[in-house]
Amino acid sequence: MKKIYLVVLLIVSQTFAQTEDEKQMRKIYDAALDNGKAYDWLNYLSNQIGGRLSGSVQAQQAIDYTKAQMDSLGLDRVWLQPVMVPKWVRGTPEFAYMETSPGNTTNIPICALGGSIPTYGRGIKANVIEVHSIEELKTLGKEKISGKIVFFNRPMDPTSVNTFEAYSGAVDQRGKGAAEAGKYEALGVIVRSMNLRQDDFPHAGGMNYGDIPEAEKVPAAAISTNGADLLSATLKLNPNIQFFFKLNCKTLEDVESYNVIGEIKGSSNPDEIMVVGGHLDSWDLGDGSHDDGAGCVQSMEVLRILKKTGYKPKRTIRAVLFMNEENGLRGGRKYAELAKTKNENHIFALESDSGGFTPRGFSFDASEENIKQAESWAKLFEPYYVHMFVKGFSGADISPLKNDKIVLAGLRPDSQRYFDHHHAENDTFEHVNRRELELGAAAMTSLVYLFDKYGIQ
Ligand SMILES: [Zn+2]
Repeated sequence: MKKIYLVVLLIVSQTFAQTEDEKQMRKIYDAALDNGKAYDWLNYLSNQIGGRLSGSVQAQQAIDYTKAQMDSLGLDRVWLQPVMVPKWVRGTPEFAYMETSPGNTTNIPICALGGSIPTYGRGIKANVIEVHSIEELKTLGKEKISGKIVFFNRPMDPTSVNTFEAYSGAVDQRGKGAAEAGKYEALGVIVRSMNLRQDDFPHAGGMNYGDIPEAEKVPAAAISTNGADLLSATLKLNPNIQFFFKLNCKTLEDVESYNVIGEIKGSSNPDEIMVVGGHLDSWDLGDGSHDDGAGCVQSMEVLRILKKTGYKPKRTIRAVLFMNEENGLRGGRKYAELAKTKNENHIFALESDSGGFTPRGFSFDASEENIKQAESWAKLFEPYYVHMFVKGFSGADISPLKNDKIVLAGLRPDSQRYFDHHHAENDTFEHVNRRELELGAAAMTSLVYLFDKYGIQ
C-alpha cells in the first residue's frame, strides 16, 4: 500500500514539475514574441552600424551599442573584456574579368578572401587552370600549375540536406587552396563561392597561409557561382583564355578590441557559470544580420527574457558577444583563457551562429548522460516545433571552453537559406524574419532555463 502511495506521489510530483516547466516556457515564448527586443537591436546593428569586420570602426560601434543596451537591462554586471584582434582591410573594391581574345573581356564578380595578400602592382593576368580539389592540384604538380591562376571549382554538394555538411565538404578550397597552390608556383587563386544557389554574389570568408614562406603566398579571391560556371564553360571551349584580377586588401597591425559580456548572478550556485553567445564581428560585404548579428541579439534577449519573466536563475548566466570569430577566433580563445586563469566553473555554453532562421532544435557536444538529460526535455519543445535534439558541433566561439564536464550546445535553425547569404553582400537585415529570430531567442532561453533549474548530471 505504502509503495503504491509513493509511486502515485512520484507521478503526481513529476506531472506537477512538468507543468511548472511548461508554464515557464510559455512565459518565455510570450515575452519573446510580444514586444521582444531582439529585432530592434538587430535593426540598429545592421542598418545604423553595418558590417563589423574585426578592428573596424563599425566593430567598435557595435561594442559600444550592445554594451549600452545591456546596461539598460538592469543586469548584475556588464563589462568589456579586452582582446587583441587582427585587422585585415579590403581596400578599394576588387576587380576581375576574363579575356577570351585580346580586348574581348567580360567582368566577373569577385571579392578578396579574408587574410589574403593583395595583387601587388597592376593586378594579375594569366591563364587559368580549373581543379576540383586540393588532391587534384597536387596530382597536376608544378609542371601544370606554375605561372597560372588556380580556379577551385568544386561546388557544395546539393544533395546534403544539412547545408552545413555541404559547406564543410567544400570549404577546404577556400581555407587552404591558396597555401597549397603557392607551393606549385601558382600566381593566384580564385575559389567558387560557398553558395548552393546560382547568383552573382561573391562570398567572402577566411583563408589561411599556414606557415608557408612569404615567397609562396599568393592572393586569393572568391568568385560568384554564376561567374564560376561561366568561367568553367568558357575554359572548356578555350583553355587558353586569360583571367585578370586585382585585390587591394592588406593586413595591418593587431588592434585592441573587446568581447561584450552581460551577467545575471546566480542566486544559489553563483559559481556555476552558463554562457549564451554569438559573435559580434562579421564580414564587411553585407551587414552581418544573419552571421552573426542574429546570434548576438538573441543572446542579449535571453537575459532580457529571464528578467522580464521574473525568473531568478540559480546559476550565473552570461551573454557573451564574442569578437573576431570570422578571421581569428581571438575572442572565443581569450574568453576561455581568462575563464581558466580565474578558475571559473563553466557548466554550460550555448551558441547561436547558424543564422536567424526558424529554429528546429539543438545540437549537443556533451557526455552521453547530459545528452540524454537534454533529450528528456525535447518533449517540452514539441509545441514550439523545436524538438530536433542531435549530437554534434555546438559553435566556434564556445569550442575553446570544451572539457569533460561542460555541456556545449548550438541552436540549429533551418539551414536551407543560410548559404544564400553567408558572408555575402546580401546578408542584410531584410532577410531576417522577425518571428523566426524571436522563436530562436525563446528556444535558447528555454534551454538555458532548464539547464539552470536542473543543473548538469
Ligand atoms: Zn558566424
